[in-house]
Amino acid sequence: MERLILIKYGELTTKKENRKMFIKMLVKNINNLISDYEYEIDYDRVRMYINCDNKYIDEIAKKLSKIFGIHSIVICHKVDNNIDNIKSKILEIVSHESFNTFKVETKRADKTFEIHSQEFNHVIGGLILKNFDCKVDVHNPDMLLHIEIRPEGTFIYTNELKGSGGYPVGIQGKGMLMLSGGIDSPVAGYLALKRGVDIDCLYFESPPHTSLEAKNKVIKLASIINEYSGNVKVHVVPFTEIQEAIYKNCPPNYMITIMRRMMYRIATKYAKMRGCEIIINGESVGQVASQTITSMSVINSVTNMPIIRPVACLDKLEIIKIAEKIGTYETSILPFEDCCTIFLPRHPVINPKLEKCIEAEKRFDYEALIDKCIANIEVIKKLENDNYDDLL
Ligand code: ATP
Ligand code: MG
Repeated sequence: MERLILIKYGELTTKKENRKMFIKMLVKNINNLISDYEYEIDYDRVRMYINCDNKYIDEIAKKLSKIFGIHSIVICHKVDNNIDNIKSKILEIVSHESFNTFKVETKRADKTFEIHSQEFNHVIGGLILKNFDCKVDVHNPDMLLHIEIRPEGTFIYTNELKGSGGYPVGIQGKGMLMLSGGIDSPVAGYLALKRGVDIDCLYFESPPHTSLEAKNKVIKLASIINEYSGNVKVHVVPFTEIQEAIYKNCPPNYMITIMRRMMYRIATKYAKMRGCEIIINGESVGQVASQTITSMSVINSVTNMPIIRPVACLDKLEIIKIAEKIGTYETSILPFEDCCTIFLPRHPVINPKLEKCIEAEKRFDYEALIDKCIANIEVIKKLENDNYDDLL
């Protein structure tokens, strides 16, 4: 008799034609996530089983609850299809539960098993009533006992850990997330991962105007998002020279617009070099001057790469709620300055004109500066160790 983890797939069960690919990607992601443990994985088109040392079973189940493509995770007991063995296992399991009311739900996938589902519910219900002080409640039971009788054995469980849903990361190819130290962009990254996009992060820093703490904060945020992926890297762009050139050459009210046009140019070029097909960011319509739809349009016109803005139409409170749920909020609100705020003009333009941007950008050789920036990008790959707290 053994305890094992049973995984029920998430949304991928609805995508029949792509099912094989989805499951393969999920298996790959799980292998990546739990490679430090010894385990065996076994799967078919509707479910997956992970057999591991009982000592680690809860730990592994918890890790699995974070990754995408999983509807639910169940720690279940497996016995053979012998009725006496099933009964004695059920008595043992139920003796560890505290409940007043219960319901039994049997699924008989093995049609050679001689007792039908409904009848078996009664047999087991009677057994529990006889041995424990309790009542049946089919509508709102304290304990729901699942029995699944399948050709390979009988699976018994009482609880289900909710999975994160979504698609397995990687199923949608790669995207480059513009990750700042704010609240919005980590949430945007999480939502893109949930749709199956494998993300890399791009962070623009401007030392000495921005601090090492600001950079470490972004790395910490990336390491939190990485718990939902396992494959996140951070690419740090040295942005100081471009920002200083903008400061020197452009009208103050256009500085932010032009800075963001430069960010998009760099992101587009670098994303292509890294095999990314889209850019993701945390822009939210109307949030600040650079995020009015006129600003967005003028900024967006420097690229023809699709830009995905997962939080574009959420309000700040909705974004904060997700940030709290995914564990990025506490880090996001640490007070280190971002490059967007250091040269912030008093009156940034709300309705920028494209011609004015083009005119101002002619005053310095931004192409050369962009190439230099890209050539000096620092890549941070090891994010498994999420202990950056002492650096902040
Ligand atoms: P906040 O939560 O304070 O709004 P934010 O990260 O959304 O923080 P914004 O100034 O609103 O900051 O910037 C809009 C988007 O532009 C960000 O969500 C992020 O995707 C991108 N961005 C801003 N600054 C940087 C940066 N230094 N590096 C990378 N991306 C950035
Ligand atoms: Mg924002």
